[in-house]
Order: sequence, then structure tokens, then C-alpha cells
Amino acid sequence: MSQAEIEMKRVVEEVLIDEATLRRRVEELGEEISGDYEGRDVLLVGVLKGAVFFMADLMRQLSVSCEIDFMAISSYGAASDSSGVVRILKDLDINIKERHVLILEDIIDSGLTLSYLMRNLGAREPASLEVCALLVKHGRRETDVPVKYVGFEIPNRYVIGYGLDFGERYRNLPHVAVLSKELLSEGS
Ligand code: 5GP
Repeated sequence: MSQAEIEMKRVVEEVLIDEATLRRRVEELGEEISGDYEGRDVLLVGVLKGAVFFMADLMRQLSVSCEIDFMAISSYGAASDSSGVVRILKDLDINIKERHVLILEDIIDSGLTLSYLMRNLGAREPASLEVCALLVKHGRRETDVPVKYVGFEIPNRYVIGYGLDFGERYRNLPHVAVLSKELLSEGS
């Protein structure tokens, strides 16, 4: 076994969504979004840093004209327990008034981060404001923010890969995987 394979065994408990499945679903989402936004310009707002990979892939599946911008936010609470109290680390560069805005999120857990974002961006009077999340944790949402486009519903496990990190690492895994119990306990 190579050094890389040994490291992967230590980090990954189980591959939840493989590369081909991710690709297929992103293609489907691209088709659906292109249909819904036909004839309109869409502004994709990526939430840094996790949504970057998803955004880059999804954007290339869109046939409508689109722009991108980014926001970075951080939760005040412990990393593993989102309190919903968030602060903006990087705001949008583009004025979204009367724009069709589609927020792209990597993962929705409690939904509190998203709820804050919707309120914040909604107050800037966009023409429309919708959400597309690659992953939604099953049964975890505490707010009823409507998520129009969902890539996958996943069980309540800590996942890494395809943009998602653990201590800023493992974003480069090509699949979505459950973090090993060993690492999870080291980090908590
Ligand atoms: P929420 O406010 O919905 O509870 O939390 C959303 C944020 O928590 C995500 O944008 C992400 O940064 C982080 N998060 C929640 N669950 C996971 C997970 O399983 N893996 C990773 N890497 N981050 C997560």
C-alpha cells in the first residue's frame, strides 16, 4: 500500500458520494437551473471556502449568462456547533439590487448560517434570491429557509472532500467522504 493510500485509510471512514455521482448530479442541477433562469442573468454567490469546487463545476454546466461573487462568513460559536451568530469576513463586491441571486452553499447543517445570509442579502433588494446547496444534512435543520436546489441529502455525519475541510485540510479529495472516527475524536 502506498503512503497516500495509508493516509487516506486513516482519514476516510467511508466514501459517501463518489466522483462520478457528484459529476452526474452537478450536471442535472446545471440543467435544472439553466431551465429555471432562461432569459435572465444570474449572479452566483459562493460561500467561501467550501463552495468553491461545487461552484466551479456547476457554473460550467450553466447555459444562461452568469456572474460570480463570493462571501466569507464565520460563525462565532465552536466550529462543530453552529450557533447562528455569524460575522461577515468578506462581503460581496457586486451590488445585488435587482439582480437574480443564487446562493451556492457546500453544506447545510442546522441552516442557521444560511438563515443569516438570506436575511442579510434579502435586505439588499435583489430581484430574486434562491439557494442551491450541494449537501443537506438529514433532519438537522432548525430553520425553515427554503432550499430550492439540493444536490444530496446525507446522514448526520461529519463529511470532508470536494471542498469540505477538516481543520482546513482534505478539501482536495475528489469525493465526499465521512471523516474517520480517529480524526474526529482528535479534533473535538
Ligand atoms: P449550519 O449553520 O447550517 O449549521 O452550518 C453550515 C456550515 O457548517 C457549513 O457551511 C460548513 O462550513 C460547516 N459544516 C457543517 N457540517 C459540516 C460537515 O459535515 N463537514 C464540514 N467540513 N463542514 C460542515
